[in-house]
Amino acid sequence: MKIIVLVKQVPETSEVEIDPVRGTLKREGVLSKTNPYDLHALEAALRLKDEVGGEVTVLSMGPPQAEAVIREAYSMGADSGVLLSDRAFAGADTLATSFTLSRAIQKIGFDLVIAGMQSTDGDTAQVGPGVAELLDIPHVSYVREIQKATPEALTVTCDHGDYFLTIEVRIPCLLTVSRDLNQPRLPSYRKKKLTKDKPVQVWGRKDLTSDDSSEEYFGLDGSPTRVERIFAPERKRVREIWEGTPGDLAGRLYHFLKEARGK
Ligand SMILES: Cc1cc2nc3c(=O)[nH]c(=O)nc-3n(C[C@H](O)[C@H](O)[C@H](O)COP(=O)(O)OP(=O)(O)OC[C@H]3O[C@@H](n4cnc5c(N)ncnc54)[C@H](O)[C@@H]3O)c2cc1C
Repeated sequence: MKIIVLVKQVPETSEVEIDPVRGTLKREGVLSKTNPYDLHALEAALRLKDEVGGEVTVLSMGPPQAEAVIREAYSMGADSGVLLSDRAFAGADTLATSFTLSRAIQKIGFDLVIAGMQSTDGDTAQVGPGVAELLDIPHVSYVREIQKATPEALTVTCDHGDYFLTIEVRIPCLLTVSRDLNQPRLPSYRKKKLTKDKPVQVWGRKDLTSDDSSEEYFGLDGSPTRVERIFAPERKRVREIWEGTPGDLAGRLYHFLKEARGK
């Protein structure tokens, strides 16, 4: 089974500043890591490979330093990796990201694509389903269990919040996975050393299309989303700490609530 895992590099902290003019994340100087959900996607792929055979390719789109997430995937057991990196891809919203990834997936060839259910920075959960739509294949989101795998189909359970749904999905297909699915293995020091010189293929726009007119689907030009304004929500709640005997506090609370109700 040819499995492609989508891995995104995300900031290691949630305290990332926003560029007030461009409305984009200020990523310079911020430490990065693999999107945690994508480690579960990779773990699922490696287990499926053990079960039914095949190979696992990791695919990432990002600046040159995103190679680090592919190297981490190598030290967990991925067979090959492709990094999509080109100025033409910069400023991509979820549609342009999905488009670019889907072009690369078509070029690599696949039976199954596995993505995290969301990223910890953009957090939209749109890229997995977007890629599936562009590839015209079925997808199942929020997968928490893979019960059965054959070369023709998978039986999976997904989490719909209020209920779980178990379904069979034909291959080729795409899954987005939740953190309940598995416990990702730790990167192996031995594998890290062994794969130190293993190449990472880097593809740009010209590797994905020979048609210049399709340039408009990549990067900022292919992104219909416009960020109007990014701001921290105004804090309206005021926190007070009261001290006193339970009787005093109960009386004070009574008057406070009565007054607040009258407002
Ligand atoms: C107008 C606009 C401009 C933007 N400009 C920039 C910019 O200049 N630079 C920038 O870095 N971001 C930019 N972004 C953010 C960018 O659109 C998102 O990071 C990207 O589209 C992925 O969306 P997400 O993080 O919500 O992923 P989600 O849909 O939440 O991710 C789900 C899964 O999809 C896969 N995935 C998502 N993104 C990638 C990826 N890049 N490579 C491989 N797999 C992936 C992963 O498996 C992930 O777990 C911009 C967004 C907008 C709206």
